[in-house]
Amino acid sequence: MTEQPLALVTGASRGIGAAVAQALEPTHQVLLGGRDAAALAERAAGSPGTRPWAVDLGDFDAVRAAVAGIDRLDVLVHSAGVAELGTVEQATAEDWRRNFEVNVVVVAELTRLLLPALRAAKGHVVVINSGAGLNARPGWGPYAASKFAVRAFADVLRAEEEPNGIRVTSVHPGRTDTDMQRTIVAGEGNEYDPDRYLRPDSVAKAVLAAVSASPDAHLTELVVRPR
Ligand code: NAP
Repeated sequence: MTEQPLALVTGASRGIGAAVAQALEPTHQVLLGGRDAAALAERAAGSPGTRPWAVDLGDFDAVRAAVAGIDRLDVLVHSAGVAELGTVEQATAEDWRRNFEVNVVVVAELTRLLLPALRAAKGHVVVINSGAGLNARPGWGPYAASKFAVRAFADVLRAEEEPNGIRVTSVHPGRTDTDMQRTIVAGEGNEYDPDRYLRPDSVAKAVLAAVSASPDAHLTELVVRPR
């Protein structure tokens, strides 16, 4: 029996990453990234094709240890992220650092560590970016700047690694019904109405479209907006 391809999804404990993991599960073995080992184990128990991959991505020693056994990786989805918002007047250096650490530096370092495994599989890297990675609006500076930066990262990775058979897709969702969005809406002082936002599985379908595209096709950027 041929083994299913292997996917690693960061941020798979909740929100968009959890939906992406669920969408990949019928066709892939899926490693579920997140920090809460018990929560991931519970999630994996209900989905036989998945395994917990618990690591704080900001702890690079732990990340190195966690990738050690991965020799071949078909799909890497970067969904872990944070959104620290604020105007330029409000946002502190720490706010800027937190966005850049998780949304950019972690993405670059995890990709770097997994490049041999991705090359071995001629794999696919998907970066969950944001509408804020295409348009920067007042009050969103530190987050938008990190998402513009990770778009540049994806563009460079694609140019460098396409000759090695690797595909790289940036997915830019609009506002999506997750914990992150609840926090943002609370910060804006508004009522939360989930029907106004994309469903996480709608974003997951876009990821699946990129990953399952025919081998001659490279879906480089996907923008998904709530209707
Ligand atoms: P979420 O519900 O807040 O979930 C965030 C995920 O990131 C969780 O699984 C969390 O793991 C993980 N994470 C955060 N910091 C981590 C760290 N240091 N180490 C390991 N895991 C970490 O967020 P979401 O809304 O699904 O967002 C997912 C991605 O989509 C993000 O990149 C976000 O910028 C992007 N996005 C979101 C929206 C939206 O409206 N929601 C729109 C556009 C783009 P724990 O459970 O361990 O905390």
